Amino acid sequence: MPGESRPPETLKQVFARLIRAAGPISVAHFMAESNARYYAARDPLGTAGDFITAPEVSQMFGEMIGLWLADIWIRAGRPTPVAYVEAGPGRGTLAQDALRAAARQGLVPDVHFVETSPTLRAVQRARFPQATWHDDFSTLPQDRPLMVVGNEFLDALPVRQLVRMADGWRERMIGWDAAKDRLLPVAGDRPMDAAVPAERAAAREGTIIETCPAAAAVTGDVALRLAAQGGVALWIDYGHAQPRDGSTLQAVRAHAKVDPFADPGEADLTALVDFAALVPAVASAGARCDGVVTQGEFLRCLGIEARAAGLARHAPDQAAVLARALHRLVHPDEMGNLFKAMVFSAVHWPKGAAF
Ligand code: SAH
Repeated sequence: MPGESRPPETLKQVFARLIRAAGPISVAHFMAESNARYYAARDPLGTAGDFITAPEVSQMFGEMIGLWLADIWIRAGRPTPVAYVEAGPGRGTLAQDALRAAARQGLVPDVHFVETSPTLRAVQRARFPQATWHDDFSTLPQDRPLMVVGNEFLDALPVRQLVRMADGWRERMIGWDAAKDRLLPVAGDRPMDAAVPAERAAAREGTIIETCPAAAAVTGDVALRLAAQGGVALWIDYGHAQPRDGSTLQAVRAHAKVDPFADPGEADLTALVDFAALVPAVASAGARCDGVVTQGEFLRCLGIEARAAGLARHAPDQAAVLARALHRLVHPDEMGNLFKAMVFSAVHWPKGAAF
């Protein structure tokens, strides 16, 4: 009927239409589109949102990172100008806490944010009107060292999954179950044996191997910049230090795990970061891999316990809140062990504390 406006298509409807017309889509395609839709339209962070990240737990997290950066910068000879680059800065909370602490040590960098979400860019702009925004890493300045930070950024990048079938390896795809009106994982119809390392080729039926080509590409690009311009990159994320089998794709909505395929674009999709898999791209770019430590070790080594005690002395009524935040950030049963910090640097730059 002319003039009649239909409600906008949900992403589930878009995927269903695409799959019915052209066949299943890859898990990577599904994850990339789902997260683009998810982040574009909302600020998902905080108690009223879907999940809470370390910088939103306590100011101490960003402060430790700011001091860590300032210490490296001082030992690198205080190069100026220098750029602070944050990948996926969310609300800008980490940047605010880190740069406040860094400024007290004399480090006042120009601020660059790599962020695709218009909604989160607006939140960041309110705190950092002077920042420069980038859609990806290619437009970052080329004439100064980069101090790059990414917290819970790599885990949002799309993963590719391969699944072992009776007759060999296939890409894991997302198909459409018309009878049940739902998306579901299916095996692709093209043989993918050539994409599997020889030592994994004979894995038992049902085995899933997950890789994140986008994370390797990002870390490789950043490593090339560090090798050419100087600087350091710190990535903090939940993940494992050594590769493991299986799908780690998960969806979180309103602080609870939900089915990742049920409502694409309405829940945050993440996958564990395989830090070891990022090392070859960094090394071949000519940067130095400084290692992977747990978030608990990293923050303790930087003195987060002393900072918590100092803050509690100034605000005794906050002591219990601070103790809970500290516990959440560093305790092995909370974020302390599951989250890891990985660092790589320009070869002529000093190593950061804790590495
Ligand atoms: N670092 C923040 C937010 C983590 S949520 C914190 O710790 O609180 C993930 C962030 O990455 C969001 O800001 C999201 O918009 C951004 N993001 C996700 N995928 C991205 C992509 N492909 N390119 C740039 N930013 C992306």
